[in-house]
Order: sequence, then structure tokens, then C-alpha cells
Amino acid sequence: MEFQKNDRLTVEIVDMSNEGEGIGKVDGFALFVKDTVIGDVAEVKIMKAKKHYAYARLEKLVKESAYRTKPKCDFYRQCGGCQLQALRYEKQLEFKESKIRNNLIRLGGFDAQYVDAHMEPIVGMDEPWHYRNKAQYPVGVDKEGNPITGFYAGRTHSIIANTDCALGAGENKEILEAVLAYMKENRIPAYDETTGKGLVRHVLIRKGFTSKEIMVCLIVNTDKYRLPQQNKLLEKLTQIENMTSISISLNREKTNVIMGKEIHTIWGSDTISDTIHVRNMQAEGYPFTGKALTFHISPLSFYQVNPVQTEKLYSLALEYAGLTGQETVWDLYCGIGTISLFLAGSAKKVCGVEIIPQAIEDAKANAARNGIDNAEFFVGKAEEVLPTFYAKQDAASEMRHPDVIVVDPPRKGCDADCLDTMLKMQPERIVYVSCDSATLARDLRILCDGGYEIQKIRGVDQFGMTVHVETVVLMERHN
Ligand code: SAH
Repeated sequence: MEFQKNDRLTVEIVDMSNEGEGIGKVDGFALFVKDTVIGDVAEVKIMKAKKHYAYARLEKLVKESAYRTKPKCDFYRQCGGCQLQALRYEKQLEFKESKIRNNLIRLGGFDAQYVDAHMEPIVGMDEPWHYRNKAQYPVGVDKEGNPITGFYAGRTHSIIANTDCALGAGENKEILEAVLAYMKENRIPAYDETTGKGLVRHVLIRKGFTSKEIMVCLIVNTDKYRLPQQNKLLEKLTQIENMTSISISLNREKTNVIMGKEIHTIWGSDTISDTIHVRNMQAEGYPFTGKALTFHISPLSFYQVNPVQTEKLYSLALEYAGLTGQETVWDLYCGIGTISLFLAGSAKKVCGVEIIPQAIEDAKANAARNGIDNAEFFVGKAEEVLPTFYAKQDAASEMRHPDVIVVDPPRKGCDADCLDTMLKMQPERIVYVSCDSATLARDLRILCDGGYEIQKIRGVDQFGMTVHVETVVLMERHN
């Protein structure tokens, strides 16, 4: 069967791709159809045909899937940020579990039975909306030249005005409207990417979900430490309940990187705080255990964006680490030391490694703030710091051969040199926290070939409505 561009046909959607597109099958030929969900019957038009598959566009829904639900956001198709909004939440969780499972089988070469035997049920969200504690809105102008803010239309740089993202904190709208009013009333120009002129580039908003504290940072194209008519902006923003920190980030570069390197607080404190509670992941409803840690977050710090699920993710990592108070632990890719400090409360010693120097400064400050003195932090690449440490024969042997290694790498996964050194260090247990199950599968294969066995695999939904999923895996060394 060969398809041509512009062919029309009716297909049933029988599966979904890792990117959230519906998949229809015609004589073994796969059709990828954006904006459809499993169970739909759809009239589609072929946009791009390859030998064994094609991309098609949804023209008309002939029959709506029982798994469909009405998207909350009017812009969900244009935005592309929420690939799964039209799919019922329970089905989203199923989708994510099978994404992890399929990647482990197809990319990791693990047996389906082996994977199923170790998989624990995915940890879903109680409320999959308004869960994000961080939002970065680009600023531009509409056709009439009025300042607007919203989101980039899928894979473009044109801004669609929308101050009310369904994943963001409820306060975002009021804050963005205050910034836009300040710009309009005082004729403050939005930044123009093509000319490099204008002032306001982005608005960053962060909220501490436990503390309720709010941070606003305007990313501006200037080298001055003051905004024009700054008081007019402050008058508006400081009226918003729980406003805690207002800053500007100077970014004069012609780049896609949002934040500038220099941050200057123009009102209130430099940071906001947030508390993460330890939960019991084996009990119904995951109740608090009574232990908690408080973190200070600056505009540049990396901090998990879904605080409610982060508690569950970290608590699971802690549970899998199986600490009794006697263990030595490495926490690689530690960011501002959140997982490290969780572990430190139940370990003899924890060493964290992170590439961003500022994050390590935050980690040290967070350790001190929480009264933790058994955590040490190293700046550098995990694939360099770990081998160098291991090569030092005089290094404390308890850290050359730790009991547990926890890793939480970015999407690209762990570097081969990092995995190699982990194997040489021979920890009893490895806990792998992953935001990309494809690279996870690749790395687990290497660790298993190097002498480890998977004990437990569990998904945690940190990003409801999107196709992304976190996975935590416990591995043990066998002889
Ligand atoms: N565990 C932390 C951070 C996880 S995100 C948390 O839960 O908050 C991954 C972190 O890895 C980021 O902070 C990133 O800066 C860092 N990173 C990226 N590449 C790295 C590398 N090669 N070596 C060490 N850290 C790296």
C-alpha cells in the first residue's frame, strides 16, 4: 500500500506515539495523526508519506473515542505544550506507563516479563491542573502594537496572547496583567527578536507552593539596574498577595537563552522559600512522615516544577535507596541538592555532584539552613568528577566504594564514563531517577550488563497533560 500526499481516508486510531500522536494502521502501514487519541475514528489527510509510514492531519472526527475529554484550554492545539489534554487523565497515566515499558523493552532489550515483574503502579496526580510552580512567558506586541504575553505557537517564535495557562499557578494571570499594564501606561517597549531592540523580553514567575511566596523576574534587554518608571511597576506588583521577590535579569544577547547571567533584586528578598515533605510511598494517599526540608530558590536555580509530585518522586528515591543511617551515598546531577539533603537525613554521608556552580552554592546554603552537616558538594561534570575521585587512591575508601549511588541526569542520560565509574565503585544499590525513559533504557542496559539487576521500576507523573514522565528505578548488584 502506498500513500500520496493529500490522499484522504478514514482510520481508527489504535495506538499512540511517544510524542502523543494518534497512530492508525492500514495494512501494516502506520499513520501518525496529531490531535487524535486512541479509540478515535478519524477522517485524515496525508501530509507527508514515507515508505512504511506517513504523517496525516485530522480533518474530521467520525467517531469520538471513549477516552476523549474536552480540553480545558482553548489554545491547546496551537500551543503544543499539552499534547495529551484531549485524553482522559487515567488514560494519560496508562499511556505513560506503557511508554516506559515499551522503551525498556525496545531500547533496553529487556524482556517484557522481566519488566512487568518489577514494575510498580505509576504515581499519578490528584489534581493534574495548575501544578506548575514556574512559568516563563515571552513578551511581544500584537498587530496594533500593544504589549502581549502568552506562549509561542508550536515550534515558531510568534506569540499567541494568553495569560491563563491551565498548568500554571492561579496568580500568573494577575501578575502578567500588571506587567502589561505597566508597559502600556508607561510606553515601555517589548523586546523585538528580529531587530534586537526594545526592553522587556520575558516574565519569569515562581511560587513556593507551601510558603505561598511569589517571585517575579523581568528579563530585560538593558545593562541598567533600574527599569524606567520602576516605581509604577512596583506599585502594581507589590499589591499582589504574597509577593516576596521582584528582580530584573539583564540579557542583552541575541539568543534563545531566556535568562541573563546577572540578576538584580529591585524589591523584597533575593529568593523565595519552599518546603518539601517526605511522604510514605507505601501507604494509601502517600501521607507525610513528619520529616521536611526547606529550600531557598533564586531566579536562576533549577528546582523541580511540580512540587506536589516532587515530594512523591523524592520520597520514592529515598525509599529505594533503603537507607538505615549507616550508608555512604553519591547523588549525581544533584542540582541545588534537594535529593542529596533528603538522603543525608538517613545516611552516614552524602556527596553531591552538579555542573552549575551557582546550584552548588545553593546546595551548600540549603544544607546549612536545614542543619545538615554530612553532605559534601562538588562542582563539575559527573563524568569527570566521579572518575577523578575514584582514581585518587588516598580518597576515603567509603566514598570510593559507596553503598548507594543515586543519579538524576538531564534528558540525555548519563555519560558512558560516568556509568563506567559507577560500575567500578560497585555500590550495593543504584537508584536511577530519569526524565527520559529512552536514555534510561539505554543506561539500564549498560548497568545490567555490568552486574546489576533491576528490582523496582515506578513511573511518577510530574507533568500531567504532557507526554513526559519521570521514572525511578532501583537496581541491586549481584555477584
Ligand atoms: N536532582 C536535582 C536536579 C535534577 S536536573 C533535582 O531534583 O532538583 C539535572 C541536573 O543535572 C541539573 O541541575 C543540571 O545542571 C545537571 N547536569 C547536567 N549535566 C550534568 C553533568 N554532565 N554533570 C553533572 N551535572 C549535570
